[in-house]
Amino acid sequence: MQTTLEEIQDFKGKYPKQLWYLFFSEMWERFCFYGMRGMLTVFMVSQLMMKEDVANLQYGATQAFVYAFTFIGGLFADKILGFRKSLFWGGLLMITGSCILAFGLGKAQTVELNSFWFFLGLSFTIVGTGFFKPNISTMVGALYHENDSRRDAGFSLFYAGINIGALLGGYACVTIAKNYSWNLAFGLAAIVMTISLITFVFTQRKMGPIGLSPIESGKSKGKKWYEYATYIGSLAIIPVIMVMVAKTEYTDWFMYIIGPCTLIYLFYEMRKYSAVEQKKLLAALVFIIFSILFWAFFEQSGGSLNLFASNNLNDTILGMHFDPNGINNSSNSLFVIIFAPLLGLLWVWLSKRNSEPNTIIKFGLGFIFLALAFYTFYATRFFAGSDGKTSLEVFTMAYFVITFGELCLSPIGLSIMTKLSPQPLQGVMMGMWFLASAYGQYVAGILGAGMVSPNENASLTEKLISYTDGYQQLAIYAVISGVVLIAISPLVKKLMGDVK
Ligand code: GLN
Repeated sequence: MQTTLEEIQDFKGKYPKQLWYLFFSEMWERFCFYGMRGMLTVFMVSQLMMKEDVANLQYGATQAFVYAFTFIGGLFADKILGFRKSLFWGGLLMITGSCILAFGLGKAQTVELNSFWFFLGLSFTIVGTGFFKPNISTMVGALYHENDSRRDAGFSLFYAGINIGALLGGYACVTIAKNYSWNLAFGLAAIVMTISLITFVFTQRKMGPIGLSPIESGKSKGKKWYEYATYIGSLAIIPVIMVMVAKTEYTDWFMYIIGPCTLIYLFYEMRKYSAVEQKKLLAALVFIIFSILFWAFFEQSGGSLNLFASNNLNDTILGMHFDPNGINNSSNSLFVIIFAPLLGLLWVWLSKRNSEPNTIIKFGLGFIFLALAFYTFYATRFFAGSDGKTSLEVFTMAYFVITFGELCLSPIGLSIMTKLSPQPLQGVMMGMWFLASAYGQYVAGILGAGMVSPNENASLTEKLISYTDGYQQLAIYAVISGVVLIAISPLVKKLMGDVK
C-alpha cells in the first residue's frame, strides 16, 4: 500500500526518514555539480587556452546561467512535470552532459572542437541542474506539516549533505583531472550523478503522493503531450544556451531580462491568491532580495578570495602546511558539515523552549556574521609581513565565522520558501530563491573586479591593501543590510502572517 502524506508528515523523532533519501540524492548531485564547477576555470585556461580574465568571466556566466535556469525548472515542475519527473529528467540531462565531457574532450584535435564539446556538455548540465536543484529542495519542505517546527532543522541536515557532496566532488574531480585525465574526472562526475539518480529512483516510492505530476492529478490532467513538449523544448534550448554561455555579453542581457520577467510572472500569478497568501509571497520576495546581497558578498570565495589566497597568504595553520587555495575552496564546506546538524539541533532545542528566533532575526544574524567575517578578512592586513603575505589562520577563522552566516540564511531561506508559498507556486518560488543566487554570483564578479588594484604591476603589499579595503567596505554594507532587515522586521512579520 502507498504511504500517505499524513503518515510521512506525522513522523516521530527529529527527522523524517524520507529526508535521508533526498539527502543522499542531493549529496551525489552536488558532488557532480561542484566537481565540475571546480574544474571549469582550470580547464578553460589549461586546455582551451583562454586568458585568465576571460575564463573568470566565462565561469561567472555559467554560474549565473545554472542558477537562473532553476526558475524555469521550478516553473515546469509546478505546471507540468511535478517534482519527481523534473528530478529524473534533470538528472538524465546532467549525466548526458558529464558523458559528453568525458568522451568528447581530449579526443578532439583542435581547441575549437574541444570548445564545442565543452560548451555542449556544459549546456546540458545547466538545463539539467535547473530541473534538479530547486525541485529536490522543495520536496524536502513537503515532508513537513505546515507548522512543524522541525522543518528548519531538516533543511540544516539536508544542507550538510549538500556540503559533503561539494567537499568530496570539489576535491576529487580537480585532483583527478590534474594528475590523471580530464576525461576520467568528468567521467567520475557522470558516474556519481548516476548514483544520485538511482538513489532517487529506488526511494521515490517511499514519498507517497509528494512530487507527483499535476498532469496526473491536477488541473491539466490528461494533457500528456505537455510533458513531451517540455522534454523536447528543454533539448531544443540547449544550442541557444551554448551560444549564450560562450559569449559573456549575452549573459549580461540575459540577466537584465530574466529578473524583471520573473517578477512580472509572479505578480501575474499572485492575482489568483487571497490577500493573506499574497502578503506571504511579498514576504518571500523580501527574503529573496536580501539573499541577492548576501550571495554577492559570500561568493567572493569563488573569485577575489581565491586570488587573494593564492597571492597573499602563507601556508601554515597550527604549524601544519596547507595549500591556501585548498583551504579557500574547502574550509567552508567542512565547517558546514560539522556545524549544520548542531545548529539544526539548537533550533529544535530552542523551539521546545519557545525561544527559537524567527526567520527574519535568523536572516539578520546571517548578515551580522557575514559582516564579522569580512571584518576578519579585512583584519588579515594587520598580520602581514613586509612581503605582503599574511596569516592563513586568521583567513580560516573568517571562513569559520562566515559559515554561521550562511547557516542562518541559506538553509533557512530554503525552508521559508516552502512555508510562504502556496502549493501550486512552490517550485517557482524555490526557483526564484536560486535565481537570487544567480544575481548574487553575477554581482559578486563585478564587486570582485572592483577590488583589483588598478596598478597592473602592484606589489603583493599593494594587492593586500586593495583587497582588504574592499573587504572592509563589504563588512560595512553587510552591517547596514542586517540593520535594515531588523528595522523592517515588524513589517515583514505582518506580511508573513502565521508563518514564523
Ligand atoms: N551551497 C549551496 C548549494 O549548493 C547554496 C548555493 C546557493 O544558493 N547559492 O546548494
